Amino acid sequence: MTDNASLVARDLAALWHPCTQMKDHEWLPLVPVKRGKGVWLEDFDGNRYIDAISSWWVNLFGHANPRINAALRDQMESLEHVILAGFSHEPAVELAEKLVEVTPAGLSRCFYADNGSAAVEVAVKMSYHYWRNLRRPEKKRFITLANSYHGETLGALAVGNVALYKETYGPLLMETLAAPTPDCFEREEGESWEAYSRRQFEPMRKLIARHHQEVSAVILEPLVQCAGGMRMYHPVYLELLREACDEYDIHLIADEIAVGFGRTGTLFACEQANITPDFMCLSKGLTAGYLPLSAVMTTEKIYQAFYDEYDNLTAFLHSHSYTGNPLACRVALETLKIFEDDQIIVRNRELAEHAARAFAPLADHPHVREVRQHGMILAAEMMKDPKRREPFPWHERRGLKVYQHGLANEVLMRPLGHVFYFMPPYVITESQIDHVAKMALEGIDLATRD
Ligand SMILES: *Cc1c(COP(=O)(O)O)cnc(C)c1O
Repeated sequence: MTDNASLVARDLAALWHPCTQMKDHEWLPLVPVKRGKGVWLEDFDGNRYIDAISSWWVNLFGHANPRINAALRDQMESLEHVILAGFSHEPAVELAEKLVEVTPAGLSRCFYADNGSAAVEVAVKMSYHYWRNLRRPEKKRFITLANSYHGETLGALAVGNVALYKETYGPLLMETLAAPTPDCFEREEGESWEAYSRRQFEPMRKLIARHHQEVSAVILEPLVQCAGGMRMYHPVYLELLREACDEYDIHLIADEIAVGFGRTGTLFACEQANITPDFMCLSKGLTAGYLPLSAVMTTEKIYQAFYDEYDNLTAFLHSHSYTGNPLACRVALETLKIFEDDQIIVRNRELAEHAARAFAPLADHPHVREVRQHGMILAAEMMKDPKRREPFPWHERRGLKVYQHGLANEVLMRPLGHVFYFMPPYVITESQIDHVAKMALEGIDLATRD
């Protein structure tokens, strides 16, 4: 019979896990999951865990969701996959129509890829290729924000700015221009989020003014830099950036791969600044955590710059084998239907308010600086001396103790370094939120002793 120990032994003999120092698993047990149901994951020994991080930010409506399962089963019976060049199919068309409808006004074209990093690669290539088609090939540089994350393939890594990745793979990456982040964690005592994000826009404005003739696009994660430690900022930054990009004729790429699909309280984070980016990258929640799929939404203006006689060789050059996979598109369509039918955004407002109350006590902990939140993303940062903003040394890995305390108490929480965060599936209940909050507080307390 399969139990945790037997599956883990086989795993460690054959697998290599993502972003993991495999040697850790000599003392840190892997958790083999047998099944999922709603917010719950269950292992082979019968232990269960509330998935408080949506399985790396992808799950929206719980595991083994009956509606999505039914849609997937139905699709499987008629068409599992077909080439998307020269051919088309209903789920790809319907999903593109639907995405055009729900994303900010002006995004009228949908280009599919099959994961988040690939979507970022597409947006970067499309932006550059647009300028090339307009005979402005000198516009080939990208502006990014400090501490930003856009995925892990080489192009996506290059436009990201997480220090560890940059240091490790730097020699393989194209060079970018980095602006300071609007991240409000660094604001002065008593300064508002808005005032700080406005102030932080000034160096970005200068960078754009100075380099615009060689810049293709600015890329950023709207409102929350997720992998960079759930660092958050005010929507005014996006408004100011949109204006500057228009003024200086450069593209704005909004990477909503993590923050899209309701995470920040609105369906898309850009809505809170009332802006339309030139490119919007979507993945993760797009299929509610079921299948790999991504989409890059863009404008008619961009599309038209590629639309020409074949001989002019202006067509966009990008394809993946599984582009627009019918199973994934069908699941994404069902996901968007659930948003409408079940009034998810309205319900999330209640859940977010409940979470704010439930996690509020963390802010009083002597080793937590503040609790920050944008809708359904909430974070609290463990620090050695919060008043002086002195971090714990990174190698102390205190987040791991929080993780372990959670696993022993029916919660999967997986801090990013020393940043605890809560980003649950939207089917979580108030009492489950209370339990996660209690375990977070206990875990942080244990992790920050001595
Ligand atoms: C996860 C993520 C990506 C990369 O998506 P993958 O599917 O993991 O390649 C890109 N950008 C952001 C903001 C993300 O959070």
